[in-house]
Amino acid sequence: MVAICSDSSIKGNQPVYSPISLRGTDCKINSQVSLAGLTSFRVGGPAEWYVAPRSIADLQASFAWADTEGMPVTLLGAGSNLLVSDGGLPGLVVATRYLKQVSFNEQTGQVTAGAGESIPRLAWLAAKRGWRGLEWAVGIPGTVGGAVVMNAGAHGGCTAGILVNARLLSPGGKVEILSPQDLGYRYRTSVLQGGDRLVTEATFQLQPGFDRAMSWRKRILISASAGQLNLTTCLAAARYSAIPGRRRRAG
Ligand SMILES: Cc1cc2nc3c(=O)[nH]c(=O)nc-3n(C[C@H](O)[C@H](O)[C@H](O)COP(=O)(O)OP(=O)(O)OC[C@H]3O[C@@H](n4cnc5c(N)ncnc54)[C@H](O)[C@@H]3O)c2cc1C
Repeated sequence: MVAICSDSSIKGNQPVYSPISLRGTDCKINSQVSLAGLTSFRVGGPAEWYVAPRSIADLQASFAWADTEGMPVTLLGAGSNLLVSDGGLPGLVVATRYLKQVSFNEQTGQVTAGAGESIPRLAWLAAKRGWRGLEWAVGIPGTVGGAVVMNAGAHGGCTAGILVNARLLSPGGKVEILSPQDLGYRYRTSVLQGGDRLVTEATFQLQPGFDRAMSWRKRILISASAGQLNLTTCLAAARYSAIPGRRRRAG
């Protein structure tokens, strides 16, 4: 779990400004956007500024705006591993929720998905095609980008095990394509955690070909995950209300 607390967090009644339109894009940056509804724990204060780009051009323009304004940037996937302080977050929160394109390559057995695509939804799309390799992800809340950063995993599988590469954009506009080795994977973390390089998309190696056993395997994993979700949520909520600001892992 990544707890986001900051002594310099915005506090109290901050002014709400009119949305800022970024020139040459359809992108709008809004002020004082509540983050409580954008994280799994449904708590936390507002983002000083918030943007949800729909394209790489929007993303670049958003980063450029934050740079010009001298603002810190926080990256937000589905918010399932984030606990935001009641004081909110200073600077610009960049959400990946609209970066969702998915493409399956029948020749290579690889799937490429945008950072904001839901990782369980991707697992279902793959399973529907009879492609194996993502079954473990059906019960993990979060996005492709969050999974790449956190090395999400369950039931013996994890992101590092199937990732071919991840495409990144840094606030300065630099595009990089990194391999799992470059990402320095360890248990539920990578070198990207806590940084400002944004995963824009990721490619995973799956195994095409219909597998009769898959539907059973899927059901087992889903049942197990459903139990885990309820238990984890309750335990995590209890722990966090007792110890605000502590860093813990959710899964
Ligand atoms: C009930 C529950 C059950 C869970 N079970 C599991 C489990 O079984 N296994 C498991 O591994 N995890 C589990 N988790 C944790 C969580 O689902 C994973 O860590 C998930 O990968 C987080 O994805 P996200 O999109 O929600 O990321 P977020 O929570 O939004 O962000 C997590 C971190 O990644 C960064 N980030 C997000 N997107 C990007 C991006 N595109 N580029 C760069 N940085 C980015 C954020 O800044 C933050 O540091 C669980 C969480 C909950 C609430």
